[in-house]
Amino acid sequence: MATAGLIAHGRGEAFDYLIGEETTEPALNAIKAAASAFLTAERAVISVNGNTAALVAEEIVRLARVTKAKIEINLFYRSLERELAIKELLEKAGARRVLGVGEDASGKIPELGSERRRVDLRGMLVADVVLVALEDGDRTEALAKLGKKVIAIDLNPLSRTAQKAAITIVDNVVRAMPKLLEIAGKLKQDVEKCHEILFDFDNKKNLVESMKLINERLSKLAEKGEYLTLEDEKT
Ligand code: ATP
Repeated sequence: MATAGLIAHGRGEAFDYLIGEETTEPALNAIKAAASAFLTAERAVISVNGNTAALVAEEIVRLARVTKAKIEINLFYRSLERELAIKELLEKAGARRVLGVGEDASGKIPELGSERRRVDLRGMLVADVVLVALEDGDRTEALAKLGKKVIAIDLNPLSRTAQKAAITIVDNVVRAMPKLLEIAGKLKQDVEKCHEILFDFDNKKNLVESMKLINERLSKLAEKGEYLTLEDEKT
């Protein structure tokens, strides 16, 4: 794993503490909107980096199958060796086709530097909906500027990725992906419901709810000055 990936993971854990290490109500609302966006998309793509492949390879493959989305490897630090290792991991999890490997990633996202701008001509470049997780803000912003509907899974509601995405799921990717898969399976037969969910969803408002939740939780913890007691009260 790249060092930056480990650092990103640590940053995520800190925020997971703040949300209570569970899928919150606003996260669930965003997951429903994300499932709806995937099911009503024409060309959805799941963007995969080293962290997401290591954490949720099976869910990525199953989500792609349920929603007819493509899977594309998109690394911050590209090397053919890393791309092939991630491709193998995804194939072991059942993927039949993995985009974004080697020369396939010859498309370019404008405004981004060198290797970070490379995308697959059959995937991300022509996609209307793109799911990213543990992604950096520059790339999320560039994808959004290209007109893609970006769905982000990011534990930090204040990150640039969280702020620039069209649908932000403030949750741990290991909880959010199985839930997304489950809800996509349920909504699959009801396209009208998907449109309704998307019509009603407001990402800014939902992000505010996530931040309020952290705020309230911290206030409660601060009153008590204890973490474990508050956790015990949940059970
Ligand atoms: P940005 O560039 O978007 O402002 P950043 O510089 O923190 O944010 P990265 O470190 O590239 O960007 O992105 C990692 C993001 O992923 C962080 O916001 C981190 O909180 C989040 N993250 C880390 N681990 C997880 C996880 N398991 N599930 C969901 N999100 C996670």
